[in-house]
Amino acid sequence: MRKIGIYTFIFLIALIQSCKFESEPKVKCYAWLSDLNKVDDATLKMKFSDYKQKGIFGLLYNGGHNPDDYRRLGKIAKEAGLEFHAWIPTMVQSDTSKIDTTWYAINGNGESAWSKPAYVDYYKFLCPNRDSVYQYLKQLYTSVAEVEELDGLHFDYIRFPDVILAEGLWKKYNLVMDREYPQFDYCYCDKCVKDFKDKTGIDIKSVEDASQVQEWKQFRYDLITNMVNRLSEDIRAKNKKVTAAVFPGPNSIAKKIVRQEWNKWDIDMFFPMNYNDFYLKDTKWIGEVCKEATDLSGSKPVYSGLFICPKPNSKEKEKDPENHGLLPNELEDAIRESMENGAAGICLFTPERMTDEHWKVFHKAIRKTYEKKSKN
Ligand SMILES: [Zn+2]
Repeated sequence: MRKIGIYTFIFLIALIQSCKFESEPKVKCYAWLSDLNKVDDATLKMKFSDYKQKGIFGLLYNGGHNPDDYRRLGKIAKEAGLEFHAWIPTMVQSDTSKIDTTWYAINGNGESAWSKPAYVDYYKFLCPNRDSVYQYLKQLYTSVAEVEELDGLHFDYIRFPDVILAEGLWKKYNLVMDREYPQFDYCYCDKCVKDFKDKTGIDIKSVEDASQVQEWKQFRYDLITNMVNRLSEDIRAKNKKVTAAVFPGPNSIAKKIVRQEWNKWDIDMFFPMNYNDFYLKDTKWIGEVCKEATDLSGSKPVYSGLFICPKPNSKEKEKDPENHGLLPNELEDAIRESMENGAAGICLFTPERMTDEHWKVFHKAIRKTYEKKSKN
């Protein structure tokens, strides 16, 4: 009897162990999350523990500029076993108690992104070529980087306004963006025009088609790269990681439409927003842009950003691309394409958009082993 008891005991331990192994995710998964500053501690505790249990590894949390909010939520996230990063938009800013309105970017028609933003009201982009802008952003990011509970800072909108909009958005804004148009092309402020002329001898305002001037493109890639690298150094001095949400590519899309040459950025991890529906593409494309990103990221980890459809049953009827995204039956493919093409993991936009069906697929898909395809 006693022997049987021992065998049963060993069997049960083995069973518990195997269940434990089954529940360990193999795919590292981050998630973008916003607007929880007003949620109470108990509710947050439940929410964060639920995400952890579902297989989320870390959160990129967008909660404004106040370090105290990141301190409170960060503590709860850490207790739930999650990594916690402050996700704070960079070039899009609107706090005019600290920002002079002359610091905003100017388009090819001479209009300010402050008083006449492109596309949508919140597209108030600063000029990345101003020391005052850098000083403002440095103060913003380093004050948040003081928060002990944070693992890192996450840049977003670290770019120019879209000179070309992703094709899936043309209908929404009633535009056909077959080339660069001056009203969406930045920055033609006096300082940018003068600095470019001093550097290259080219007066960009007298050029007939500025989109054909390669040096002008490079000048603006470099303005963003310099801003990223300066801020990155400041944040790392506070012992925090630096990461960024970037457009897919960099060559195929990010450089062309938002002037992000992000393979040159000195940061710790890249989160390309591989939102296939915005580009009218399928999950195979997610694999293609992951391959491009990981080939060019210089061994820095790339987390493949996946855009989730919040109402899968009515996606077909939804006119607004913001409500499109991956259906439950596309999610595994999207994860597989990302992992087989070198991604270090994935990032969900957002866990709040995930339906029960999505979570079911996700649970299985993040426990599979994916072989990275060999180069070329
Ligand atoms: Zn400028």
